[in-house]
Amino acid sequence: MEAVQAQVLSHYRSDLVNRIRAKSKEQGDNVTAHVLSANGLLTIKLAKEFGFCYGVERAIDLAYAARRVFPPPKPIYLLGEIIHNPEVNDQIRNMGIQIISPKPSEAEMGRLGAGDVVIIPAFGTEVETRKKLSAKGCELVDTTCGDVMSVWKRVRQYSKESVTSIIHGKAKHEETKATTSQATAHGPGHYLVVYNLDETDYVCDYIRRGGNKQEFLDKFKGAYSPGFDPEAHLQAVGVANQTTMLRGETEEVQRRIKNAMIERFGAGEVDGHFRFFDTICGATQDRQDALQKLLREPMDLLLVIGGYNSSNTSHLAEMGEATLPTYFIKNAAMMASDNLIRHFSLIEQKEVETNNWLPPGKITVGITAGASCPNNLIEDAIKRLFELRGISVQELLAN
Ligand code: SF4
Repeated sequence: MEAVQAQVLSHYRSDLVNRIRAKSKEQGDNVTAHVLSANGLLTIKLAKEFGFCYGVERAIDLAYAARRVFPPPKPIYLLGEIIHNPEVNDQIRNMGIQIISPKPSEAEMGRLGAGDVVIIPAFGTEVETRKKLSAKGCELVDTTCGDVMSVWKRVRQYSKESVTSIIHGKAKHEETKATTSQATAHGPGHYLVVYNLDETDYVCDYIRRGGNKQEFLDKFKGAYSPGFDPEAHLQAVGVANQTTMLRGETEEVQRRIKNAMIERFGAGEVDGHFRFFDTICGATQDRQDALQKLLREPMDLLLVIGGYNSSNTSHLAEMGEATLPTYFIKNAAMMASDNLIRHFSLIEQKEVETNNWLPPGKITVGITAGASCPNNLIEDAIKRLFELRGISVQELLAN
């Protein structure tokens, strides 16, 4: 690991970001943002916490280390993406690591043999996939983040006690799929995934008054365990969450479900029917808290940098959108000109274009980046912004 850290750093480090950080450190711990300003003409405010988290750093280090320990021509396979950032995944591909499906098909499994190296990404993998790979005798390089594993521990406990895990998350996200597989592999428990407060309210109504079972099952298709029956399996529930959800929303999910349980079974009985364990990870929380503080400052717009399929980054964009014009971009190239930006729309779930995005005159731009976004991409975005205003960052820093 130590041997590859320098190589990882050389791929993803940014002198510019380090310098901006160091500058604000001189001003003390109380600053709410790292600031770089060109005579007020353009000021950028970088959230105090942003970018790579410890889990992502470890996963990338382990992938690089695997390549070093098993040099070419030894094939190395990766289940899906190591993290949700296209640039980082391209880099991994360039090292000759072959990407296969997160849940390999029979044909992909058939190509793997004893001793083949398979990397499990930071979000983990499903119990069944791990078992199949082990049975084949594959050498597993497990980069699953410790924070994801603590969610697994929690849902395993629920499952052993026949408590249904209600998981606040995205049913199709690799992490949630891995978590749901843990919820059924070690005991008689079931699971149900709720994505938002509307879905939570639907479940709460069912807990309170019952309802149309078929309608329930149709609505949550693909988001519950085999054999799940809302009449039988919503009697005792434990709430957990995907590590990268919005904390405020997760707290509201658990509050609403707890209230529904109290109404159904009475306050004195609720402990036998409801459990909750906060499994938002520290890194996600730090980035959300830092953005919350940044959003209290006067700014004209916010740039959120990261992969479009990154859950924690999407939530940062959501927070920004609630306050000011926000552009969720995967890299600096999305800022085509001061008139045109391409960015990801959370509503349309695709890249869209916006004209006249950069207001004229003196402006302040907030910047944050998700836990899977490397510093070099943040540097590119900062440089591009100044370039669009005809300002050289090099000259700015030299003064
Ligand atoms: S975002 Fe959180 S759970 Fe995901 S890798 Fe980073 S620290 Fe781990």
